[in-house]
Amino acid sequence: MATGRLSIDLSAVASNWQALSKLAQTDSAPVVKADAYGLGIAPVAKALARAGARRFFVAYAEEGLALRRALGPGPEIMVLSGHMAGDARTIAEWQLTPMLNSVDQLMRHLESVPDQPFGLQLDTGMNRLGMEWSEWAAVAEIALAQNPVLLMSHLSCADDAEHPMNPYQLDLFRQMTDGLNVPRSLAATGGILLGPDYAFDLVRPGIGLYGGLPFEHARPVIRLDLPVIQVRDLQQGEVAGYGNAWQAHRPSRLATVSGGYADGIFRSLTGRLTFWHGDTPCPAVGRVSMDLIIVDVTDLEEVPEVLNLLGPHQGVDRLAESAGTIGYEVLTSLGSRYARTHLE
Ligand SMILES: *Cc1c(COP(=O)(O)O)cnc(C)c1O
Repeated sequence: MATGRLSIDLSAVASNWQALSKLAQTDSAPVVKADAYGLGIAPVAKALARAGARRFFVAYAEEGLALRRALGPGPEIMVLSGHMAGDARTIAEWQLTPMLNSVDQLMRHLESVPDQPFGLQLDTGMNRLGMEWSEWAAVAEIALAQNPVLLMSHLSCADDAEHPMNPYQLDLFRQMTDGLNVPRSLAATGGILLGPDYAFDLVRPGIGLYGGLPFEHARPVIRLDLPVIQVRDLQQGEVAGYGNAWQAHRPSRLATVSGGYADGIFRSLTGRLTFWHGDTPCPAVGRVSMDLIIVDVTDLEEVPEVLNLLGPHQGVDRLAESAGTIGYEVLTSLGSRYARTHLE
């Protein structure tokens, strides 16, 4: 097999979901937007449904459609971008529940699909999505008369437990929603870890399910091995890769593996990328190219068949740190060329 092998441990996803639900002590709806953070919306959502999840969040109506096809009727599918122009048919046909973000979206929804359930997203300071307090005050009575299924907001600094923005948003959310007798949701993964005050009636874990920070106790979910296509021996002074960016300062053995920036292994990792063979680190050398990476395997006693990029020695967040980004981006950048195995 020529392409990298990506294995996704669905039992780890389910157990991370259960662990976060237990921490939150309240209902929990997995966030499976962006193809379940790059890991495959159908297998991931089905595994979570088998583990007991009954409500799911996606970003767009189109993702909701794909999820409904995978799950069939029954589970509630909530759409974070709300009800965009042109979404009415998809919402009605596939039984989606948009989280309405503005007065415009509320009017659009009530005019086009008044019988479809909806929730409302309120802005508590992030200034990304949701109604601000003044808008909410203007339409709350109309909206509440239509029985919204959820009032939600989103924390902007929840990955930093000490950040004063957290209690500020919590307080504002309470002021905007106390006494309204509608289920409420504020916390994603980071918010769950802030404690029970933030949990309300429903939490929305995403990254923690997939093994990423800030959920330190997550079970790792993915493993990525890249096959070695060719191995060669170099004399001291020879160079390797585009731009002759690396030069051998000792007699060296190089392995060329399949995988590159087209597979989500960022070119900016050039000079900072390490593979593993068992417990031995093997530094990548030269530039990361589109489909190939050259790795220094001089210190290995054997000629490797595969090298590990994500696994026990290097998780998603460690690789993200080398790349100057976050685990979320590493996961959602994983390419479509890998041979994927979903382990039950
Ligand atoms: C993406 C997202 C989540 C999930 O966040 P994680 O940090 O991945 O747990 C929850 N709620 C909203 C509104 C989101 O956009």
